[in-house]
Amino acid sequence: MVYCAIREGGVVKLDLERIEDVPLALDERLVIPADRLDPSLVAGTVEVCAQVRISSLPEEHLLRGRMSMSGRLICVRCLEELDWNAEEEVTVRLVPAVASPSAEETELEPGDLDVRFVVDHELDLLEVAAEQVLLALPMHAVCRENCAGVCPTCGANLNDEGACTCDSVVDPRWAALADLRGRNS
Ligand SMILES: [Zn+2]
Ligand SMILES: [Zn+2]
Repeated sequence: MVYCAIREGGVVKLDLERIEDVPLALDERLVIPADRLDPSLVAGTVEVCAQVRISSLPEEHLLRGRMSMSGRLICVRCLEELDWNAEEEVTVRLVPAVASPSAEETELEPGDLDVRFVVDHELDLLEVAAEQVLLALPMHAVCRENCAGVCPTCGANLNDEGACTCDSVVDPRWAALADLRGRNS
């Protein structure tokens, strides 16, 4: 695949100028480090299998296809890791980043397809995949519906039977409220 090269750091960059009449079909496995996503939510790397086609339009390119994502997330309550998978249909307009601002104003409307500005015809596929993962990630991941979280006193995982021996396991929000009441009386 002449257009596609894995460079240092696993960055996949494409020269869009070389894609003309025949769409470029890609089937790439991309490994996205957590620090390009949300390190408080993602544990380790997220793998993306990108099966996409990039076709040429008169003034821009269009990326369409499917991305399968898998990785491990961190439960917001107990901080344990959990498996995460998602499969997303992807459509992204690849618009040359031009100097004239009028092009942006007239062509881009919120709610339109995803748009990515491309400088010097060079597309970083890893960056596109990272954006799609960020869109697909849940706001808060929980390992299970009734995850009990951690003990506010000692930090033990309360999902484990007999996790800790602290006397009063008080939800920190209630504790704050009790504090306030105490002060007001
Ligand atoms: Zn949990
Ligand atoms: Zn405890």
